[in-house]
Amino acid sequence: LVRMRSRLARSQSSLGRGLLTVLARERLTEDDWEEVEETLLAADVGIAATTQIVDRLRTQTMVLATASGDDLRALLVRELAAVLGPDLDRTLATDRELGRPAVVLVVGVNGAGKTTTVGKIARSLVGDGKSVLLGAADTFRAAAADQLETWGERVGVATVRGREGGDPASVAFEAVRTGREADVDAVLVDTAGRLHTKSGLMDELGKVKRVVEKQSPVDEVLLVLDATTGQNGVVQARVFTEAVTVTGIVLTKLDGTAKGGIVVSVQRELGIPVKLIGLGEGPDDLAPFEPVAFAEALVG
Ligand code: GDP
Repeated sequence: LVRMRSRLARSQSSLGRGLLTVLARERLTEDDWEEVEETLLAADVGIAATTQIVDRLRTQTMVLATASGDDLRALLVRELAAVLGPDLDRTLATDRELGRPAVVLVVGVNGAGKTTTVGKIARSLVGDGKSVLLGAADTFRAAAADQLETWGERVGVATVRGREGGDPASVAFEAVRTGREADVDAVLVDTAGRLHTKSGLMDELGKVKRVVEKQSPVDEVLLVLDATTGQNGVVQARVFTEAVTVTGIVLTKLDGTAKGGIVVSVQRELGIPVKLIGLGEGPDDLAPFEPVAFAEALVG
């Protein structure tokens, strides 16, 4: 939590401090409430959740008027956590006992942080004593497979890769086959994210999944989204949710944005739980998403 807090420092300063300053005022005027609203919107919390939070806070003006700084902070954490989907199931397939390798596809546009996230997930699994195999199904750029392989070496796991320009689905198939043969705990497949044409990408991802499913269920499809792209990222994300059944979102680069509220709008608009958050470029800069801890980090 302490690390998350320092990593989210930029979100904090604009959201938490801004809100607390207004809410601590003795008598809240319409202008003050507008300021609360603007602060939430500026942090990408989204209109629906902002309205919900403001409405809820407005019913508590008596409480607000007499609350100490700590009480205000606690109240704010509670209201923010309430719009962060506290009841959503965020368990990862890699945490379940499947009796076979858990198969995870990682999808998203180029640059979102897919490869880095695969590396970080592998690192965390290895840290838990699990065996992992990586699949480089982005066959369009040799550099992409090289980058994944480098991550693999860094965290001590092998990578299955194909020829440059080869069929992504067959690389994914091969990775899962090898993983099953070696009886690893998890196979993590990195995919291509060129959005050259929407239908091209949808066809390709659909095919990767179908081909893998000839030998194993796909247990998790993680959609990686760059938090710094804000609402645009959410719109792009729809392309992926239409192409495959996404089971969880990984929101990356939360360390580089003042808009931590994007978690709220992403989850609401896509109806998919954020399961992991990226807080930096290093192998350990990945954290499970936990609504109360996140709300606490946002409020500061
Ligand atoms: P891909 O094209 O989707 O596979 O994206 P990459 O994994 O290559 O990441 C693109 C860039 O984003 C790289 O420079 C990463 O180091 C950086 N990156 C990924 N995740 C994070 C994160 O959580 N925080 C920060 N600050 N940078 C990140």
